Amino acid sequence: MATLAELKSQGIKWFGEVGAWACDEWKILNDTFFDGKNKPGAIIWGSTLQGDSLGYYHLSENLIYLHKNLMRPIYPTTDFKWGIRHLNKRVASDVLLHEMIHQRVNQTGGWVGETSHNNERFVEEVNRIAGVLGMDIKARVIKQTTTRNKPTWNIEPGCLTLKELSDFPYSSRTRNYYYNQR
Ligand SMILES: [Zn+2]
Repeated sequence: MATLAELKSQGIKWFGEVGAWACDEWKILNDTFFDGKNKPGAIIWGSTLQGDSLGYYHLSENLIYLHKNLMRPIYPTTDFKWGIRHLNKRVASDVLLHEMIHQRVNQTGGWVGETSHNNERFVEEVNRIAGVLGMDIKARVIKQTTTRNKPTWNIEPGCLTLKELSDFPYSSRTRNYYYNQR
């Protein structure tokens, strides 16, 4: 297994400053939210992810993919420019944190349930991390019931929807959070 230092120099070789940033940010998030216990893997900047997702975690390879569109200001614009100056750091950090939850779950026994988001392990991590972030939210596994042959998803009162669960933590940030850039 590659060390974080090795992964960082590889990241710099492949992606320059954004590669270095991703490794440094991963370390900060690991120390802040996971007691430094996630095992590091390569972080790849690319453009071909599933759907409109900005991040992806590859289970068997322990790889995190980040979308190059994160190097685009959140103000309405179509300008994409490669480079650390254009990186939307707060959004990118939250996307990275989300993928690190998948990393954590995977590295501590995996999950059983409906999807990689709607399961006890992921939900437990969301609640724990929301607590660290001081977010006043609650997540529960969303269960399906069938009434008159129609399946419905039952979201317990005050709990995150499936979409919010799948988009944690960005779904739960305050409206202005991403506009107050570092
Ligand atoms: Zn996810």
